[in-house]
Amino acid sequence: MIVAIVDGYTDEPAGLGVPPYLGIYPRYAYGAIKKAQKGARIFYITIDDLRATFVGERGIATKNKTPNFSKTQKILEKAGLIVYIGGLHTPGKYLSAVPSQVEEIAKFIKNYKAEKVLGGPAFMGSAHMGGTKVTSKELRMAHSVFDYVVYGDLEAFLFDYLTNPRDADPLRFRSYTELRDYAVLGAEVVRQFPGYPNKVIVEIETQRGCPKAMGIGGCSFCTEPVRYRTVEDREVEDVVVEVKALYDLGVRHFRVGRQSCIFSYRSTPNGRVPIPNPEAVERLFRGIRSVTPDVKTLHVDNANPAVIANYPEESTTIAKTLIKYGTPGNVVAFGLESADPKVAKLNNLNATAEETYEAVKILNEIGGRRGPNGMPWLLPGINIIFGLPGETKKSYEATFQFLKRLLDDGLMVRRINIRQVVVFPGTPLWNMRNKVKTEKHKRLIHHYKYKIRHEIDLPMLKRVVPTGTILREVLAEVHENGLTFGRQLGSYPLIVGVPKKMELGRFYDILIVDHGFRSITGIPIPVNVNTENPKILEMLPAIGKKTVPKILYHRPFSSEDDFFKVVGEEKRKLLRGLITS
Ligand code: SF4
Repeated sequence: MIVAIVDGYTDEPAGLGVPPYLGIYPRYAYGAIKKAQKGARIFYITIDDLRATFVGERGIATKNKTPNFSKTQKILEKAGLIVYIGGLHTPGKYLSAVPSQVEEIAKFIKNYKAEKVLGGPAFMGSAHMGGTKVTSKELRMAHSVFDYVVYGDLEAFLFDYLTNPRDADPLRFRSYTELRDYAVLGAEVVRQFPGYPNKVIVEIETQRGCPKAMGIGGCSFCTEPVRYRTVEDREVEDVVVEVKALYDLGVRHFRVGRQSCIFSYRSTPNGRVPIPNPEAVERLFRGIRSVTPDVKTLHVDNANPAVIANYPEESTTIAKTLIKYGTPGNVVAFGLESADPKVAKLNNLNATAEETYEAVKILNEIGGRRGPNGMPWLLPGINIIFGLPGETKKSYEATFQFLKRLLDDGLMVRRINIRQVVVFPGTPLWNMRNKVKTEKHKRLIHHYKYKIRHEIDLPMLKRVVPTGTILREVLAEVHENGLTFGRQLGSYPLIVGVPKKMELGRFYDILIVDHGFRSITGIPIPVNVNTENPKILEMLPAIGKKTVPKILYHRPFSSEDDFFKVVGEEKRKLLRGLITS
């Protein structure tokens, strides 16, 4: 049997699978197929491979181009089964990958004879931008193209389909016990990931469902408790054995990000705010580090600030564990969504502004110092959603004032993510969809976004990565308008723009020289003073416009001493380690 797994990429409230991230779905699917049919030949291809094949370029598909015969096309022709994975529930901005949707994949695969399966969160629809209502159109189209639309767990369905097709149930969920083998066997698919081995970060699952939702119900907009009605925590041993399999294959970047709250791992249910379990988190990360001695990235993702604020002692221990076993540049994303208590109540949000403030403070105290890769060890991120029912002008102002208070009090927040609410069928928000304010408050939303970007983000970025910071191992990913954009591998990495074209796919150490609203400008170091262009030379500390002509006139320099004779001996200290000749 030949199987093609087509990754259209996924982004959900708890889980990411957009390159350089390899998400859980392709890995589990691969493992389930391997377990069911040892001899199956499984090819992992991405939506970008299909775009390149059928459109001749990366980007949005157009019908007008003649398809190229390629390896991808041959795989699809010979495949007995095509498994498409997709779904965007929390759309963001992606640096070098564009997630797909059913409409696009349908054009590419509909004429192939293979049986077709759709898996991942796509069955609930996808939102490619905030401020939209997801309709059943995508689902209707999915049913017309795919033989099976999987509403339960893709891996469970695939295993059943390949071992006992008659009983294969697209609604079936698997347990973590069943997942054990799929997860380990599925690690192997990483070999086919375009960034393998050193430009891939794998998303690791520890929990499904939302502990807060179990206590008082989910947040109005969230799909996590709609998909998973109960909370299940994965065994430490199962996570460790999967991580080991990936590490043994050469993976060095991990994000333990597939959970709604890492501080609630194996917590005790307790109404709105579960009681955290620091011992379990310690066992988890100690176990992971015991099998990943040379890990380069070990980060996490979401946390409920209410847990941290209400259990500061336990949470302090957990934060210290994340630092002890993890790597710097780690970010815990807090879902505040709105600082207006009325909006919070109406939408059943998880934490108050005061709780979020306390949680930010605790993380700053523990994680604020800078690590060897140039970033603070562990910082909070804040998620804001605009357009929720109940919002008034005062709500936007309250959220702005909350963020301003963090700034004025000298606290650090790694990033503020502002989304416009998306209405998914099945969520509590669906019943309030007529009260969604994205259209009505369009101008207000635009105004406050602008205000936050200018008055909060910019000074905050300057605090988090001041000029002169050196960010280590920044991966160059795209060229745009003569610039190169890159980022470190990790959770919510900063986007760095370098004012020249650099070879893509390579890692660079970058000296930060300037700040934008959400990204920073840097130059790769060490700077070769004999060959580097004037624009970059000018950005070196203590050089500037006036000194550059002197450098250009006198080069080549035979040594650093020769260079400092020309630019001035007093600059030597400031440029130590930053130049070469
Ligand atoms: S706390 Fe709210 S947003 Fe977070 S997973 Fe639970 S329901 Fe979703």
